[in-house]
Amino acid sequence: MSTTVPVAVLDVLRGEQFADRATTWERAGAVPREDVECLAGHGLLGMTVGTAHHGSDLPLVDVTEAHRLVAAASPSLHSLLVVHAMVCHALRRWAVRETRDAFLPELATGRVLAAFALTETTGGADAGALTTRIDREGDTLRVTGVKRWLSFGQIADAYLVFGLTDGLDSCALVDAGSAVRVEPEPRTAGLRAARLARVTFDGATAPAARVVGRPGTGIPFVATSCLTLGRLCVAAGAAGIAQAALDLAVGHAATRSTGDRVLGDHQLVRGLLADAALATESATHYVRSAAQEVENRTPTAAVTAARAKLLASRAASSVTATASRLLGAEGQTENHPLARLAAAARVHEVIEGPTEVLQDVVATALLRDQGATGKGKQR
Ligand SMILES: Cc1cc2nc3c(=O)[nH]c(=O)nc-3n(C[C@H](O)[C@H](O)[C@H](O)COP(=O)(O)OP(=O)(O)OC[C@H]3O[C@@H](n4cnc5c(N)ncnc54)[C@H](O)[C@@H]3O)c2cc1C
Repeated sequence: MSTTVPVAVLDVLRGEQFADRATTWERAGAVPREDVECLAGHGLLGMTVGTAHHGSDLPLVDVTEAHRLVAAASPSLHSLLVVHAMVCHALRRWAVRETRDAFLPELATGRVLAAFALTETTGGADAGALTTRIDREGDTLRVTGVKRWLSFGQIADAYLVFGLTDGLDSCALVDAGSAVRVEPEPRTAGLRAARLARVTFDGATAPAARVVGRPGTGIPFVATSCLTLGRLCVAAGAAGIAQAALDLAVGHAATRSTGDRVLGDHQLVRGLLADAALATESATHYVRSAAQEVENRTPTAAVTAARAKLLASRAASSVTATASRLLGAEGQTENHPLARLAAAARVHEVIEGPTEVLQDVVATALLRDQGATGKGKQR
């Protein structure tokens, strides 16, 4: 990891007072577009975009470190970084040159915001259960269907939509416009400011060059590689949430006196702090090594990203729960940063593959490995 990236990101977060603004965003239930543009102005939306397209093309170890720091300040703002990185990744790897050249510079600089449109009412954890149609009519694509819970979908200028073309799963980039109806989803307790949207594509059209990957590759290649990156970035965010909660817990335990002792003098409290620190550090280290593996595109990268997300999101849940207990009544107040972190940790166990689905991914790989070496039963 370069030492300059975390310092630069911390400077941005402090200089722009993002952690302070995060409380206002959560209360209002929205990160305003001008704050997103401010983030983009510091180059944080272009970290995974190539330099030819005005991005900074950072190594994933640096990208995930930046994600960890942003999530510690604002998990809602971080969720924008995640979906934006996934869309940029899909275009960079799978779109035709014309679409790459037209969109990547706009995305890298934040002039265009994009949402990742996979989830449907009947297909959440099961990404393959698509009903949205992406029909090809000559040089035009026509998209019909409803997508749910799209992060920053309320202010997106374009949507990376997954659907079916002649029965094959496919993917296309569609502009916001008249045949795209955007409605706010009910606000979630965690990532309350992430501007979730239900988006109806009512025969929305796009040029045929906006198809991303060939029909038949939409889920197994495009979505899968986006989800690998997304899981890694969510894992980094979860490690950031765990670190922020740990810092609050340690600060409180060191200063809160009851009777003649500070909380940190109690042996049981010290045990809780030690466990929370180890969970946080394990997640942070694992995410770092997983980032290297995803960067190197090793055959096990997708499973490693799933493991990282599983480990880090559980660390975030357990550390925020510990911190919540240690902060007593103060930690239960709704505008306390800890309440925001704890609610965000719960969401991190659901998005980009719920905990149980990732356990299945990890266990399937374990059992397959056993079968390959002839030491166990095959599935
Ligand atoms: C804050 C937030 C932001 C989001 N942003 C986006 C976005 O930008 N783009 C997008 O496309 N979607 C987004 N989503 C949707 C998210 O990806 C889905 O909520 C998630 O995939 C789970 O789908 P579901 O809610 O339909 O739950 P379901 O699919 O109904 O699953 C509910 C629960 O059932 C269990 N379960 C499900 N399947 C299995 C299984 N195979 N084995 C064992 N247990 C299982 C799990 O515990 C799971 O949490 C977002 C959601 C939230 C809350």
